[in-house]
Amino acid sequence: MDRALALAREAMEAGDGPAGCVCVFQGKIVAEGRNRVQSALDPTAHAELLALRAAATRLGRTDLSGLTLYTTMEPCPMCCWALLSAKVSMLVLGARYAQFRTLELGAYSVEGLAAMTGRTLELITGIRDAECRDLRYEALQRSVREGTSETRRSIRAAAGNPWWSLFRR
Ligand SMILES: [Zn+2]
Repeated sequence: MDRALALAREAMEAGDGPAGCVCVFQGKIVAEGRNRVQSALDPTAHAELLALRAAATRLGRTDLSGLTLYTTMEPCPMCCWALLSAKVSMLVLGARYAQFRTLELGAYSVEGLAAMTGRTLELITGIRDAECRDLRYEALQRSVREGTSETRRSIRAAAGNPWWSLFRR
């Protein structure tokens, strides 16, 4: 998770979303990824998708059974489905959507998507979650200071949303 946090910070410094992840196979790091949505102008360039692509290339197969994925933030539905369909064996999580009181993903959770699709995934949660959460708060505070148009849209969207008060400390 140390390396995943370093990647998340690197992403934030580059103006991307503060997410990083690392893939471990047979005790070794075989791939890693960080969010590159803004720097690559690719809405799908999430940390987990990039890491899964790199892991598949490195291992020479799309069945990623036996792989453990460490990520600083609970994977979104797109990434979660990618890792479920690639048969990733274990997911180790830092921060979770529920902790941010965010309404943007509704009742979504990785457990929910796994149950809905009949997939199994070993899940370990709460690993350095305070550090993972702090990084996301820091990224949001930065974007508020920098006042990007995306931030202004988010502020408008968040008006009246209880989680927004968390960021105005
Ligand atoms: Zn994602």
